[in-house]
Amino acid sequence: MLDLSRLNPEQLAAVKHTEGALLVLAGAGSGKTGVITYRIAHLILNKQVPPDRILAVTFTNKAAKEMKERVEHLVGRKDSKGIVLSTFHSLGVRVLKRDIERLGYKKNFSIYSTADQVGLVRQIVREVNTDSKKYDAESIIWRISGAKNKLIPPDRFAPNPLDDIDMMAALVYPRYQSALKAFNAIDFDDIIMLTAELLQHHPPVLKHWQERFGYIMVDEYQDTNSSQYLLVNLLAAGCKNLCVVGDDDQSIYGWRGADVGNILDFEKDFHGCRTIKLEQNYRSTGNILEAANSVIGNNKVRKAKRLWTASGQGPLIDLCIVQDDEEEATSVVERIQLERFKKDTPYSDFAILYRTNAQSRAFEEQLRFEDIPYVLVGGTQFFERKEVKDSLSYLKVIANPLDEVALLRIVNFPRRGIGDSTVIRINQWSLEKEIPLFEAFSRVGEIEGISEAIRDKVLAFHQTLLDAAEAFRAEGGLAEKGKTLFEKLKIEEEIFRTIDDQKAARRKVENVEQIINSMAAYEERVPQATLGGFIEKVSLMDEDRFSGKDKKEHGKDAVTLMSLHSSKGLEFPFVFLVGMEDEILPHKRAIYEDDSIDEERRLCYVGITRARQQLVMTRTLYRKKYGKLEERVPSRFLEEIPGTVLNVQQSGVAKEVTPEEAEKSAEDFFAKMKAMMG
Ligand code: ATP
Ligand code: MG
Repeated sequence: MLDLSRLNPEQLAAVKHTEGALLVLAGAGSGKTGVITYRIAHLILNKQVPPDRILAVTFTNKAAKEMKERVEHLVGRKDSKGIVLSTFHSLGVRVLKRDIERLGYKKNFSIYSTADQVGLVRQIVREVNTDSKKYDAESIIWRISGAKNKLIPPDRFAPNPLDDIDMMAALVYPRYQSALKAFNAIDFDDIIMLTAELLQHHPPVLKHWQERFGYIMVDEYQDTNSSQYLLVNLLAAGCKNLCVVGDDDQSIYGWRGADVGNILDFEKDFHGCRTIKLEQNYRSTGNILEAANSVIGNNKVRKAKRLWTASGQGPLIDLCIVQDDEEEATSVVERIQLERFKKDTPYSDFAILYRTNAQSRAFEEQLRFEDIPYVLVGGTQFFERKEVKDSLSYLKVIANPLDEVALLRIVNFPRRGIGDSTVIRINQWSLEKEIPLFEAFSRVGEIEGISEAIRDKVLAFHQTLLDAAEAFRAEGGLAEKGKTLFEKLKIEEEIFRTIDDQKAARRKVENVEQIINSMAAYEERVPQATLGGFIEKVSLMDEDRFSGKDKKEHGKDAVTLMSLHSSKGLEFPFVFLVGMEDEILPHKRAIYEDDSIDEERRLCYVGITRARQQLVMTRTLYRKKYGKLEERVPSRFLEEIPGTVLNVQQSGVAKEVTPEEAEKSAEDFFAKMKAMMG
């Protein structure tokens, strides 16, 4: 028998309300996801509903996996077999696998990756436009994706005539869609769009799935977009047993077409639905909750709710004010080590959450420096990012002209009109003559079949490298020289020129900036800093000690690094919320362009409420921009947190260890050593 005694009365009501529509609208950590898992268990164990009649949908694979584990824990693996517990996308694939032929695709369709999409869109842009270089494929894909999320097919795509990219997207979209079909392929957004189309226009298909599912549940409903909304509504129109849970305060995907109206209008969409509020938070301590409540209270448009906890105030929230980004990273890592020393806390208890992925760089470096395992969730490790590799390749070639991999990366970055065929030609020649590629560039005049114009470009490139190497041999700081080089190369301009999506471009520029910051940090740390030394340090990081295979290792004890966006729904005993500064959180763009401070505030709320026992926030006084310090302004959200819950520290390690604690931990330490020695 399922033990429901753990649930509070509201949770219990939600679990037991199995027939009809149910909305659970509640704040973070109040047990919404828990209600879904208990509901599933209740249906199976107490109401004898066959598992395969149950559908539960969530947003990320990680969330789906966690939910599956929780359900298995409650009902046992055997009885949970057959439940469809999946993301929107895997549900879509399941529907398409059965009936996609009705839409003119074959059953063995393939799903295009981003790289495939980019290739296809590039090709189409070239076909429809002579000045194709002006258009960045990713921006066009973004527009098409936006349309698909709103279920707008190619023939109804109405571009904004004042917007070049939109106009281009209007030309590309129909061709792109037919090409995909010709290749029997679909893209990620098609998974939802085509599924909705199938269900909407093919009654037998709709009937099949409506009959299949008797109970439907959706987690994180506040972040559904139009197409996901339609999908849920179509499926639920059969059994009418739909339970959605969510929190309007955690709607953080507005920029990707999510519509918080979907949850706010649920009561209108499903007449007679039951609404249950959960107000007790079981996740966080009182102080953390108070901070979260006061921050989110500043949003004007929201359903009023106030979370409370019975778990006591807990420790104060630490706010560490540090000198700069490097000290931010060292102080966080020191704190992790200190906590481990004091309480033997596993690494997996810690999460470092940031607003933008470029922020991960300093933390990744510091963690590696201290040999602390970490996993980077939902992002590419800093030194693996394309723009980082490209820019870094200049430094690599200057440090070692024989590094041909790096040399080949930069021949035409920034674009200088040296095409692949030229490079292949020069490379062949250098192989035949057995001379290094770098030298072959200087002797391009001796190579047949290369026009004079191209030859000049190659020579100019070679000269650029010689000049740069010379500059690095001169007196002066490394970061300074790196900055000058990148400016000369106009890397920033190249990124902005080649990528129309300004947001994406800016993110890449921020990453390039971080390379210079990394050099500055290296210089500060190492007395006799050399370019070669810096490259060596970076290359050691490249070795994938922590990424690749390790990342796949299940349940590895590691610190989690991730963006606030990917942290939704998760919880950690110990959370670092870093970069609490204006122009980071809230993001610069939200302040000056989009007027979306409220969504940033919700992000901040999501971040704070991930913490169970201890929250540490950090902000810097200065942050490096291309290796130069810039003064920083504290996040406006910090002012919204009552001073009474904060412990402000103007140094690295927030808490002093008391003499008693020190003695205790020393004792523990020696006891452990003794035990280890047998
Ligand atoms: P979020 O909004 O962040 O997704 P949530 O509302 O989904 O949060 P859960 O993740 O379901 O919240 O629960 C948060 C924590 O509270 C979990 O650790 C869960 O085990 C615990 N919890 C939930 N309900 C209870 C309860 N009745 N008694 C004890 N612990 C509970
Ligand atoms: Mg949840």
